[in-house]
Amino acid sequence: MGPRKARKRKNKDDLVEEDIECTEKEVDDERVDKRRKDCGIKKYVGAHVGIQGGIWKAVDSCVEMGGSSFALFLGSQRSWKRPALDQAAAEKFQEQCALQGFDTAHILPHGSYLMNCGSPKNDVFEKSQALLVDELSRCTLLGLSLYNFHPGSSLGIITTEQCVDKIAGAINHAHQQTPTVITVLENMSGQGSTVGGKFSELKSIIDKVRDQTRVGVCLDTCHAFAAGYDLAAEGGVKAMLDQFDQEVGLHYLRAVHLNDSKGKLGCNLDRHEDIGKGNIGISAFRDIVNEPRLDNIPLILETPGRPGFEYAEQIKLLYSLCEEK
Ligand SMILES: [Zn+2]
Repeated sequence: MGPRKARKRKNKDDLVEEDIECTEKEVDDERVDKRRKDCGIKKYVGAHVGIQGGIWKAVDSCVEMGGSSFALFLGSQRSWKRPALDQAAAEKFQEQCALQGFDTAHILPHGSYLMNCGSPKNDVFEKSQALLVDELSRCTLLGLSLYNFHPGSSLGIITTEQCVDKIAGAINHAHQQTPTVITVLENMSGQGSTVGGKFSELKSIIDKVRDQTRVGVCLDTCHAFAAGYDLAAEGGVKAMLDQFDQEVGLHYLRAVHLNDSKGKLGCNLDRHEDIGKGNIGISAFRDIVNEPRLDNIPLILETPGRPGFEYAEQIKLLYSLCEEK
């Protein structure tokens, strides 16, 4: 790879105005090497980071907290229609990713919470379908390959099967409108009428997606525990992955959300807790960071991150549990 223009970071919020010459390969190797050393070679632990002040700032936020992967929103969580993503901002984001040595497979944008691709209400379904296309287009512009979202809810008005049909329909529609980005379904806690608490529900969505190379799953540990998968039991992590492999297929697993759970096993409540401070407990997370089936995928924190135990501390803790260094 030849020399390229890159921006040098002066401090966390500032970019030096003049461009400096650097060799992409040199910079990337150095960063990637450091990251690999930190993470016991194949574990990519990171966190959900903010995009305030510019989407490219997410990259540095992740680096500052010692993360090797990150999640981010692609726009405001409050509005259905958002201003188009600025081309210059998207380029800056891609530059920062290259500079810091991030592989796009370790960046997991999170879908808008407004979306319900399984909604029985036509207007909400239409808006959700359009937003899904918009978000995948944003991923393309940012050079990203994955997009994670909550499948949807029947609101108790339609059956789970009908809801599954709608979700798969929205995914198929979005795949037609956009190139390449992989839609990653998140498992749910089984709260209310949400679909995706059971692995079998995720599989029934996947079965209806026409291009199965463009669909995957993100396993949220808090949601799984709240849905009744007992990660806290001895060997619970392995058992859950075995079951996932049987019911869905491990090749669909693209990411994990690392969250402890405020609620008890099977409570169906979506209440995230800091790592080791909830009902899942630290030994399950030790098993996770030492589980070879979770190599090379983003492992993303979405915990409260209370003062004194923020993301940086939780990332450090998780890496300290890696036995293979
Ligand atoms: Zn999650």
